[in-house]
Amino acid sequence: MGIEQTLVLIKPDGLVKSLTGNIISKLSETELKIVGAKIVRVSRELAEEHYKHLKDKPFFEELIKYICGEYHTRRVLAMVYHGDNAIAKVRRIAGDTNPEEADPISIRGKYGRITTSGVYENVIHASENPKEAEREIKLWFRPDELVERIYPVIKKTEVREVLIWK
Ligand code: UDP
Ligand code: MG
Repeated sequence: MGIEQTLVLIKPDGLVKSLTGNIISKLSETELKIVGAKIVRVSRELAEEHYKHLKDKPFFEELIKYICGEYHTRRVLAMVYHGDNAIAKVRRIAGDTNPEEADPISIRGKYGRITTSGVYENVIHASENPKEAEREIKLWFRPDELVERIYPVIKKTEVREVLIWK
């Protein structure tokens, strides 16, 4: 509780179904602030790290393919929401993990489905608790991609090749 931040992903099925606007509108009911947002091409490495706590589950391989976009489009919209009680507020509007059990007016209840192979294509990810939120936000975003210093940072001099406009 208190001021929190949470990682939200609009998963590849959400993007393919053109649900971005609907989902962001629904989440605006929370009155939380978006402090970062970007479209990400999800590598297998990122997907496995994100879902590492589910590595032993029978659906893990299908889940990785799903989040990498093999069945839809190879991208997700990653966002960080910030504000009072952010984690629970977003989880409540997202709905239960299983779209068939989710409240029908929640995002997952409205737009999710269960595939024939049993994966819950539930259109949105939302962090479960503050520890996971911190781990996930630090995995998906660099500090300079967020407009608020939500976690402590240090300065480091780094030489790396970057692309600039020609
Ligand atoms: N998932 C699934 N079958 C399950 C449990 C989870 O397909 O029995 C998928 C679903 O897409 C879910 C994701 O794996 O969103 C991560 O699972 P988790 O238990 O962390 O649920 P969440 O936190 O997303 O509600
Ligand atoms: Mg989870």
